[in-house]
Amino acid sequence: MEVKKFIDGLNSFFPEPKCELEYNSPYELLVAVILSAQCTDKRVVQVTRELFKEYNTPEKMLTLTQSELESKIHSCGFYHNKAKNILSMSKDLIEKFNSEVPKDINKLQSLAGVGRKTANVVFSEAFKGDAIAVDTHVLRVSNRLGFAKTEDPYKCEQALMNKFDKKDWGRLHLQMVLFGRYKCKSQKPDCENCPFNNMCEYIKNKK
Ligand code: SF4
Repeated sequence: MEVKKFIDGLNSFFPEPKCELEYNSPYELLVAVILSAQCTDKRVVQVTRELFKEYNTPEKMLTLTQSELESKIHSCGFYHNKAKNILSMSKDLIEKFNSEVPKDINKLQSLAGVGRKTANVVFSEAFKGDAIAVDTHVLRVSNRLGFAKTEDPYKCEQALMNKFDKKDWGRLHLQMVLFGRYKCKSQKPDCENCPFNNMCEYIKNKK
């Protein structure tokens, strides 16, 4: 799979890729990304529109008890762990970073409940840093097109960083998420109308 053809194809599908979560600060984005695990962005947006009306800083979030927060984020699924992580992360932010979300992937990962994917999304999206966050869509698309041959998100991230120019990482992440979500879907990918169907390992392996 040629890098240039892939980038050109993504640019024609998604000329202005945007994160589908809604946020007004790095903290809101961090909370939204934690809520988005195993949940659609659409659902997260419904929940955060209400939640952030009152609870949009670490201090305000910590006025909620675990069960109060659980009831507000219930519809996102895995609400017990998500509430626990959001409260622990907020406490860490106040205690270690003066309530500011750090602009550093390692520091982001040091926050309770923040894994590499979440740290990369926040670094790339909120701070325009160079990072490729590997979520389920990016992992699937990378494997189908042969950019990576691994189910390990970290190894996939390394393979993509080796393959693509640093300046393209942030945009590429957004476009690959959208491509995986709307075109190269997990079930029934739209291979017939895909510009990469003559270069796709998934198609080759099906034949
Ligand atoms: S040809 Fe099908 S499987 Fe391959 S990238 Fe396109 S949509 Fe995905």
